[in-house]
Amino acid sequence: MPFENEKMETMPRKELEEYQVKMMRSVAKHVYENNEFYRRKFKEKGVKPEDIKTIEDISKLPFTYKKDLRDNYPFGLISVPFEDVVRIHMSSGTSGKPTAVAYTVKDIDTWATLIKRSMIAAGADSSDIVQNMYGYGLFTGGLGFHYGAEKLGAKVIPMSTGNTQRQIEVMMDYGTTVITCTPSYAMFLGETMESMGIDPEKDLKLRIGFIGAEPWSKKTRERIEKKLGLTAHGGGAYDHYGLSEMCGPGVGAECTAQEGLHIWADHFYLEVVDPETGEPVSEGEKGVMVMTNFTKEAMPFIRYWIGDVTIIDYEPCECGRTHPRLPQGILGRADDMVVVRGINVFPSQVEFVLMKFPELGEAWQMIVDRKGTLDSLEIEVERKEGIQVTEELKSRIQEELKSYLNIRAELIIKEPGTLPRYEGKAKRVIDKREFA
Ligand SMILES: [Zn+2]
Repeated sequence: MPFENEKMETMPRKELEEYQVKMMRSVAKHVYENNEFYRRKFKEKGVKPEDIKTIEDISKLPFTYKKDLRDNYPFGLISVPFEDVVRIHMSSGTSGKPTAVAYTVKDIDTWATLIKRSMIAAGADSSDIVQNMYGYGLFTGGLGFHYGAEKLGAKVIPMSTGNTQRQIEVMMDYGTTVITCTPSYAMFLGETMESMGIDPEKDLKLRIGFIGAEPWSKKTRERIEKKLGLTAHGGGAYDHYGLSEMCGPGVGAECTAQEGLHIWADHFYLEVVDPETGEPVSEGEKGVMVMTNFTKEAMPFIRYWIGDVTIIDYEPCECGRTHPRLPQGILGRADDMVVVRGINVFPSQVEFVLMKFPELGEAWQMIVDRKGTLDSLEIEVERKEGIQVTEELKSRIQEELKSYLNIRAELIIKEPGTLPRYEGKAKRVIDKREFA
């Protein structure tokens, strides 16, 4: 069963576009008729749902921003009678007020179907034993994968995060074949297995890793696949994408071709726009992601400004799916981007360079500071156990960093195990500058 919904997943682009226009009109009508905030926004822009007749018309609709979500916290953006809501998830909100999202029974079911689709795309099936290491609770990762894996018919072990040794023991006892976690935790798992004297190729059965919730590079993938024995068991590590505003994980996922995340275009409309003007960029250009969910009932968002930077590719994939891909994944968040001496630096670029060097370990961080009037950028990374750090190696890494970042960075190679480890989202950037 290579598809969740073959007809929709392989629909020719033109037909898919027509379907998207129809869905866009329908979700616009839904919020216009049932939500005061959207009705007002539409009126301010002088647009009505019935004005959406072609794909280009979509840009007539207003954007929705994170700020709108905060301003209407907690329930102001709900577009169904409150009694129809059966689930609420919340983000802690790193700056200021938290934000909340709501689901109906049908929304939960659609979400589970999308995760099921994502898992099928990566080659998982009902015979798999899924150890879900995403956090259960307000974060959408845990419950999202839980319901999706059950819908697939797989056997779910609801481990949640933490207690790494126990996680590994469970993998051995139950013969876990699929895991879900962040890339930094996958690396940490691999390191812990090594220190416990476990050989994942012989002692474990791990086949597929659903790795996400943080941007990660192709090099990191190779390391995770090797460290956890995934390729040895005929599988691999697959990226997935999501955000609570759209549903949670399940917005997009990589197929076995590993040619970038497919965005499930029958449920989500992805636009890539210029961050300054909000106008769509040309195909193949870098821009900021804006997304609409077609099928959510409780709290659909119209043209939600995600802020992740990416490049979209509409070329059909070798897997047969026609849904657009993000061949380079997520390049970072527009707000993760650090401006150092006037240059835009994405932590994902730094990671990309560091992971090219087999002499380096997995833990790293970048420190931005200001000495006098000039910004400084320090990159700290651990060396691998048993590696001799020479000046020649250091200058090779430094050169590579300079050619990718267009800026000079001070490289500091630390002893193995001295940098902080994270079980959730890793904190890669420490910005010590004070902006008056
Ligand atoms: Zn594909």
